[in-house]
Amino acid sequence: MEFETIRAQDRKYILGTYGRVDAALVKGQNARAWDADGREYIDFTAGIGVNALGYADPGWVAAVTRQAGEIQHLCNYYYSPVTAALAQRLCTAAGMAQAFFCNSGAEANECAVKVARKFGAQRGAAEIATLENSFHGRTLTTLAATGQESFHQLFQPLTPGFRYARANDLDSVAEQMDETVCAVLIETVQGEGGVVPMEEDFVRGVRALCDEKDVLLIIDEVQTGVGRTGYFYSYQGYGVQPDVVTTAKAIAGGLPMGACLVSERLRDVLKPGEQGSTFGGNPVAAAGGLEVVSRVSDPAFLEAVREKGAYLRERLLETPRVTGVYGRGLMIGVALEAGLDAHRVLTECARRGLLILTAKERVRFLPPLTISREDLDQGLAIFADVLQSCNG
Ligand SMILES: *Cc1c(COP(=O)(O)O)cnc(C)c1O
Repeated sequence: MEFETIRAQDRKYILGTYGRVDAALVKGQNARAWDADGREYIDFTAGIGVNALGYADPGWVAAVTRQAGEIQHLCNYYYSPVTAALAQRLCTAAGMAQAFFCNSGAEANECAVKVARKFGAQRGAAEIATLENSFHGRTLTTLAATGQESFHQLFQPLTPGFRYARANDLDSVAEQMDETVCAVLIETVQGEGGVVPMEEDFVRGVRALCDEKDVLLIIDEVQTGVGRTGYFYSYQGYGVQPDVVTTAKAIAGGLPMGACLVSERLRDVLKPGEQGSTFGGNPVAAAGGLEVVSRVSDPAFLEAVREKGAYLRERLLETPRVTGVYGRGLMIGVALEAGLDAHRVLTECARRGLLILTAKERVRFLPPLTISREDLDQGLAIFADVLQSCNG
């Protein structure tokens, strides 16, 4: 059996940091995937919100393969037209001034921390306030930024200089903002924290507090960004503009890329030698990024994401044993009846041909933004069946 061989090899030779599901995926087309034994799945994961255009999108494949055949990498001593073009498109879509390119969400947040510390240096402000239940990455600095004790315990000492306020509690944020604080870092919808959306008044209130104290507002759009919530960046749906944006996951449609975007007031805040990355801005990833950003930033594309999200939410609310539906656009968290374990549901869905995610005690759906109505319906039908038959 092919799958058994793959699993044995994986378990023997890969550090066991992931609790994997029993499927080895080898091929995909938009929101459908196939495993090593030829079984078909509907995909509500998009690789944790990475494959914005689904699997093997023809336009994306053409852009990436064309670039790989031209020049696959160059060092950052030289100019790359495709990387410069992506930066322009991204900054335009985001309403920001400049980008620093890296390779992951954690690195994008690391860069944002450096930007904030440099910004605060003249007045001796180095502290960054983040939210309880947040998630900002796995490096030692971004773990410190992550407001969840359980992530911190085994890896002390972490980078100092982080403090935590309660999410959706403006007074709690205000209490943390003394003269030592240079930035506030938030997600608009806490993804790993269980798909917990911040209220509009809260996000606008944090923006106003930051303005009042001349503190940077950093929004972590690593999961919410690039069309996921039905806006190019989710803050655009909240009607605020941050000083710094971090983005990764979907940005290059499935190739490793992250970016830290800064506003006009922070133009050239970091100087030559103060930040860098060997692979940052890699032209193959950038070519994928150009295809993603040009398609996803189209208002009609974003409108379709909002429509699909509303439809999915509506259908889920009428699904037996679902007790709540959270999130924005195609970033959806589903609360289940007491006694129904989200991880059991995930395992059972995979067995029946539907790939889903969990976040805390909730089921989480992050389907490709290009998913068809038929695939949404088919996935929903499997999900409803699993909830009906699952006991525990
Ligand atoms: C996934 C995620 C990160 C970390 O991104 P990596 O690419 O895994 O380093 C950071 N912030 C948020 C909100 C995320 O969802």
